[in-house]
Amino acid sequence: AGLLLAGCSSNNNNNSGSSGTETGKGGGATPFVGVILPDTKSSARWETADSKYLKAAFDAAGVKADIQNAQGDKTQFQTIADQMITEGVNVLMIVNLDSGSGSAVLQKAKAQGIGTIDYDRLTLGGGADFYVSFDNTKVGELQGTGLAKCLKDDGKTSANIVYLDGSPTDNNATLFAAGAHKILDPMTQYKKVAEQPVPDWDNQQAGTIFEQMWTQQNGKIDGVLAANDGLGNAAIAILKKNQVNGKVPVTGQDATDQGLQNILAGDQCMTVYKAVKKEADAASALAIALAKKQDTASLATGSVEDSQSKQTVKAVLLDPEAIYFDNVKDVINDGYTTKDKVCTAA
Ligand code: BGC
Repeated sequence: AGLLLAGCSSNNNNNSGSSGTETGKGGGATPFVGVILPDTKSSARWETADSKYLKAAFDAAGVKADIQNAQGDKTQFQTIADQMITEGVNVLMIVNLDSGSGSAVLQKAKAQGIGTIDYDRLTLGGGADFYVSFDNTKVGELQGTGLAKCLKDDGKTSANIVYLDGSPTDNNATLFAAGAHKILDPMTQYKKVAEQPVPDWDNQQAGTIFEQMWTQQNGKIDGVLAANDGLGNAAIAILKKNQVNGKVPVTGQDATDQGLQNILAGDQCMTVYKAVKKEADAASALAIALAKKQDTASLATGSVEDSQSKQTVKAVLLDPEAIYFDNVKDVINDGYTTKDKVCTAA
């Protein structure tokens, strides 16, 4: 497909995330932060964005950081946490794989006087010192609004829609779905005909689930509320198989290169861009202040309620942005990806 992004021919190619190299030496009073990311498969973001921006932020501050990825394995997650605690981290930042295992890790760290931060996903019942994320209900609202807009633009006055929700163990997925339902449920012209969570955000399972929905509905699906770009891409593959890609709007999230390419190709209606650099910067600033026992009061701008413990967690919640065909360039101009990567499309 010829790609027509306005930005594809102009020279606004930003290379982002230059990362410094200096790290503090271990031991002594040098702050030391451990970060555990969840996996590399549920979204491209963890390796291409979060890991890169966190490293850059810690390097720039001269803070020693150990950033690891649990590869979707809860046992591995625990092992990494134990190692980090033994290595003497002052702060542990986690993206949990589920609240149960995440909570166990946080309790261990807290028992050793280690500062704790929930990064992106709130660990229910975890009692972390801080939570840094985006307004995740708003992410879902943007997806709901996006799907409604794309259906309307396609001239569909009534439509059957399906939901491919995120992992049932991810508190964010609950918030995304709630936000989307808040927008779409009152629009009675759009009828929900199926909804299923995708375990661990597994893209392959998403394809299987969506294909089952397609069969069950005899292909009478007019719109897909997919909770992120990976799930959306799985649905698009099945739509392609049935030669209706581009005719059935699909949502997404994370502004991954693949998601942006799908938007430019006309196969995906929209994605939600979350400026991960801002998230990484906010989280690392808190981690550094916690590690240095400095004042954190000015760094946490809000709070959330943990729906399980009913406790308040101090938080930073950033603003997500909806991305459609016309503003794909916003993501490039922000330095999140490059024109080259997005314009090298299938
Ligand atoms: C994150 C999303 C991501 C998903 C799968 C969620 O918790 O907020 O950005 O797409 O996990 O990794």
